[in-house]
Amino acid sequence: MNFSIAGLSVSQGIAIGRISLLERGSPDVPSYTLAEDLIEPEVERFSRAVDKTVAQLSSVRDRIPASAPTDIAAFIDTHLLMLDDSALRKVPAETIRSTGCNAEWALKLQRDALVNVFEEMDDPYLRTRKDDVIHVVNGILRSLQSPEDGSSHDDVPVMSNRIVVADDLTPADTILLHHQGIAALLTEYGGPLSHTAILARSLRIPMLVGVHGARQCLRNNDQVILDGHFGQLVVTEDAEMLRQYRELQLKDQRHFASLDRLRDEPAVTTDGVEVQLQANIELPGDIEMLEQAGATGVGLFRTEFLFMNRSQMPDEEEQFEVYRSVVKALQGKPLTLRTLDLGADKTVDGEVASTTNPALGLRAIRLCLHDPDLFYPQLRAILRASVYGPVRLMVPMMSSLVELRQVQRIIGMVKQELRQAGKGFDEHIPVGAMIEVPSAALQAYHFASELDFLSIGTNDLVQYTMAIDRVDDEVNYLYDPLNPAVLRLIFLSLRAGKRAGVPVAMCGEMAGDRRFTRLLLGMGLREFSMQATSCLDVKDIIRQTDSRTLPRLVKQILSSADQDEIDHLLTQLNA
Ligand code: PEP
Ligand code: MG
Repeated sequence: MNFSIAGLSVSQGIAIGRISLLERGSPDVPSYTLAEDLIEPEVERFSRAVDKTVAQLSSVRDRIPASAPTDIAAFIDTHLLMLDDSALRKVPAETIRSTGCNAEWALKLQRDALVNVFEEMDDPYLRTRKDDVIHVVNGILRSLQSPEDGSSHDDVPVMSNRIVVADDLTPADTILLHHQGIAALLTEYGGPLSHTAILARSLRIPMLVGVHGARQCLRNNDQVILDGHFGQLVVTEDAEMLRQYRELQLKDQRHFASLDRLRDEPAVTTDGVEVQLQANIELPGDIEMLEQAGATGVGLFRTEFLFMNRSQMPDEEEQFEVYRSVVKALQGKPLTLRTLDLGADKTVDGEVASTTNPALGLRAIRLCLHDPDLFYPQLRAILRASVYGPVRLMVPMMSSLVELRQVQRIIGMVKQELRQAGKGFDEHIPVGAMIEVPSAALQAYHFASELDFLSIGTNDLVQYTMAIDRVDDEVNYLYDPLNPAVLRLIFLSLRAGKRAGVPVAMCGEMAGDRRFTRLLLGMGLREFSMQATSCLDVKDIIRQTDSRTLPRLVKQILSSADQDEIDHLLTQLNA
């Protein structure tokens, strides 16, 4: 049976392999008794959960291309019918009313009863339908639970060369899966700028997101092709199709190999404008990719990844050893160490914070200022590592000058402590801030005047400018770095740096996307930091660009408020 499902590609490439559904077991089933006045609201909650499950499954059905065989639609229709059946809709509601138990428990009682019936059937085919019951019930149970039901890395089995399908994945899961040699990822939720998607790109793992209900129509060991160029997953055993995709895979590999010729060439435009292309890294081992990528340094070390997948935080000594090893391995190339950006979707235990708006809460520098035990040891470790090579210290998510001055005071205090303890550090270590919040972009000149450098974090700048959660796939469509408001904030930041005589880099995903290279060059950006895997692609464009031809179109783009016109002008710029 061949069929394909569409998804949003967040990491390019083609993978061919077998499916591993990331099973997290059946959702927990709590059991409690309700007060009389809570019974009807509970019935309504149950009914909403069933509706939500139906909506998810229907959306999968809507994604089946017309050319697909009818059995896949029939398979989903069966589940939809089950959801509409009184056995699953009415009986649990009656149980809630008659016993006063909660919805999950009423559903579990009915699931057990139905599974028993199916298990006693003689027909082996009908016996397998019990799996469908479990599948459908689990769907409702998950709908009853909060959507932020983060995964725990403990659930991850070994799955080399597998295409992993999950509801959602945390960055911690992704790292573990990568270590287990998986070939590609597909999730039901998530967006292109989630840290998981960024990781997938940096690890060159093809990935699709936003495939709602995928786990209900895919099975373990299905042979599939994940096409990260066209955003589709093809379930097929067809030898000819597999052969064609293997050829495409080879073509990709050849394209990357051809870029290799640029590795030792400078990133310079045809009219001689030099550009710095640096790499973003998450873990010390990532610097191995730098040379191959022809990167001239590290423009962003996301140090929070050292804190993930472990029960105890790394202390000052451990951090110092790691930072020092990276500085030394870079052999004189610059290293920008970002202080901890924990919070929101990056948490130590992989569980997403349960506060109302984690992305707007105690995250990054806010968390560090709130928790000196987190901040001081890291600052000491970074400063001590600065003896061994060119290190810059960068603070994420700065939103006010009051915060900036607080940070500077603390850095001053930590320096003083180190002096008194006789520990060496670079007295003139450059200190900079990320421009990720509109308030910082609007005050960029004041930030630049008090700092040594700025770096624009477009992933968060887009999130906060557009007021959309970067991990929420339902608002993905608003996530556009070309939005005129975002472009203006970027331009303001670059101009502010120029006026203050302070370099402004960009380390958000926009910097590594070849569609934006000329636009950013034309806006005055000269320091790009990106996934190492994008460096040669971007260098290729830079080396084919005459910067003198850019200002006219870039000016038009910046003065346009019309999204279509901007797209059109960008196409002309890239022609
Ligand atoms: C950004 O926000 O653009 C950025 C580089 O930081 P992160 O993706 O780690 O939040
Ligand atoms: Mg950020």
